[in-house]
Amino acid sequence: MVSFHGIKRLCIITFISIISAIPAYAAQEVNIYSARQAFLIKPMLDAFSQETGIKANVIFAKQGLIERIANEGRNTHADLFLTPDIGPLYDMVNKGLTQAVDSPILGGNIPTQFRDPNGHWFGLTTRSRIIYLAKDRVKQGDILRYEDLVDPKWKGKICTRSGKHSYNLSLIGSMIAIHGEAETEQWLRGVKANLARKPQGNDRAQVKAIKEGVCDIALGNSYYFGNMITNAEKPEQIEWAKSVNLLFPNQSDRGAHMNISGIALTKHAKNKGNAIKLMEFLSGPLAQYMYAQENFEFPVRPGTPKSSLIQQYMGNFKADELSLATIAANRSQASKLVDKVGFDN
Ligand code: FE
Repeated sequence: MVSFHGIKRLCIITFISIISAIPAYAAQEVNIYSARQAFLIKPMLDAFSQETGIKANVIFAKQGLIERIANEGRNTHADLFLTPDIGPLYDMVNKGLTQAVDSPILGGNIPTQFRDPNGHWFGLTTRSRIIYLAKDRVKQGDILRYEDLVDPKWKGKICTRSGKHSYNLSLIGSMIAIHGEAETEQWLRGVKANLARKPQGNDRAQVKAIKEGVCDIALGNSYYFGNMITNAEKPEQIEWAKSVNLLFPNQSDRGAHMNISGIALTKHAKNKGNAIKLMEFLSGPLAQYMYAQENFEFPVRPGTPKSSLIQQYMGNFKADELSLATIAANRSQASKLVDKVGFDN
């Protein structure tokens, strides 16, 4: 016969198991505010959910996520902030919206130059800002460096998106680190003088413009080539990609400019444990392999096999090892230079 004390004990045990069960169920999710389009990260998030049972919810917006996280304050739903550029990660850290993560797994997967020494941001992939060249109009070797873009022989031949876009600000930030502000201003003026049209559109639009004969030379991120040449849904993009050669600039000196996509844990993350699990997963062998295969980016984790497409078109190239911290620190200066020379006008 169960005594009164026995029943009481049973009740307490039941109660404890109920309350310990509640947070366990409620915690089985993680919320990501992403400036990267959701479809790009969905395959990795699905794999994460399958492995861990943790649901990964994504809110995507190209702009305004940092302001949103700041405005939401303690009540933010964002556990993680994901972005395709170092700039926004720095802005997040500088605004005090992140918290440090100390994880031996992240430390083991991500080389030091691709993560914050204080643990506030982590790179997940790298990409190069390369030069796309019209196959039939620019001879191999005619242009080799970012610095060559100012050669007067390219007058009216260059296309690019806005100088104020994050990708260009980082490139200009790297030029400032190497050449200083005054020389970079001259360089920007020289590139502007060679533009075929007012800066406009995204990176793919520049390759389209090469295909259409609007220009012969364009700046663009490396993975867009993979996205275009494999685009069965928009086969016209395959034709754009076929019309260009890829130039990884500055191979005889500092190497091609590199940027990262990366992630940060928000200061007021409600699902901190799950968020760190997801960060670790995204830096791990499976997700890194998927990034390389599906997005044509370069995985940060050493030893990750390259996709065959990357091996074919982007083989081995010399990457600029300039620190991302330096690049990020120069971005506001870069933005002022873009305005000063009227690059986008
Ligand atoms: Fe992009």
